[in-house]
Amino acid sequence: MIVTQTPEVKFALRAVQLAAQLIRQVQAEMASAALTKDDRSPVTVADFASQALVARLLEQAFPNDPLVAEEDAAMLRSPQEGERLEKVSAYVARLLPGARPEAVCAWIDRGKAAPAPRFWTLDPIDGTTGFMRGDQYAVALALLVDGQVQIGALGCPNLDLPGVPAAAGSGALVIAARGQGAWATSLDAPDRYARLQVSPCANPRQVRLLRSFESGHTNVSQVDEFARLLGVSAEPVRMDSQAKYAVLAAGVGELILRLLSPAKPDYREKIWDQAAGSLVVEEAGGQISDLHGKPLDFTTGRTLANNRGILASNHWLHPPALQVLRELGA
Ligand code: AMP
Ligand code: MG
Repeated sequence: MIVTQTPEVKFALRAVQLAAQLIRQVQAEMASAALTKDDRSPVTVADFASQALVARLLEQAFPNDPLVAEEDAAMLRSPQEGERLEKVSAYVARLLPGARPEAVCAWIDRGKAAPAPRFWTLDPIDGTTGFMRGDQYAVALALLVDGQVQIGALGCPNLDLPGVPAAAGSGALVIAARGQGAWATSLDAPDRYARLQVSPCANPRQVRLLRSFESGHTNVSQVDEFARLLGVSAEPVRMDSQAKYAVLAAGVGELILRLLSPAKPDYREKIWDQAAGSLVVEEAGGQISDLHGKPLDFTTGRTLANNRGILASNHWLHPPALQVLRELGA
């Protein structure tokens, strides 16, 4: 791998790998247990455990760096959640021995920081419904400096990428550093890295189009109309989480569309849903913008307030895709 092993890169790789492996343990163990409380129990426990772990590792590695993350501990602190908090703490303690519930809540709440000139952003489990279905999900962590993503790391426990040696089982660990490319390795044995490179396909008919699995996160009929107007012949591929960005970066797809759901026309993307994946795509030679072709603006707080939706491509298909989006008035 030619990404310089700075302390930031080493931290990002280690934090994402450990969090992804911990989530996998929660899934394996809790899915087999009788879930008396609710079906979402494994995902909530895993979400909180992942965020607590990464936040604590960040505090140890870079005590002055703020963290902007999806979850907070308010719900966990309520008396009726005591049992869940104990579970979360027990999982975190597997990697951070002695982790107590009070400290775990405080680590999770480190994620409530405001964006700053230099900060990290984390989605502890991106694609929660994919996690529950046993499909794709990701731990997504990025370092932003002066509004630019400098490092993006994705841990995708169920993703196999071509050319990436899968060690004992599935799972990909992806790292991008600005100006140094995007790379992937096995989540469980991260030794050999493969450089990610987008597909050279410039023919709309051969496009593999990726979209959210969840219909409520996009506009399904508009995605279909987009595909028809562009001349795409294959059905769009449904996939949860920023695993889609890793797939595009690896050349296994050409376009990702995040159209606005008709139910939420004013939805704005969360920065932790885009930061890591956007750099992975760009460093693999791809392009990412909003639906109007505007670059993503990471200087507006916890959401991309100046952007509408997302278009990511292998670069070659960006202009024709933007043209079709204009025709559609998307
Ligand atoms: P995906 O797996 O591509 O569906 O993206 C998952 C992310 O979509 C989640 O982490 C949410 O933050 C985000 N999300 C939630 N509601 C919406 C919505 N109405 N439109 C777009 N994205 C959403
Ligand atoms: Mg997410």
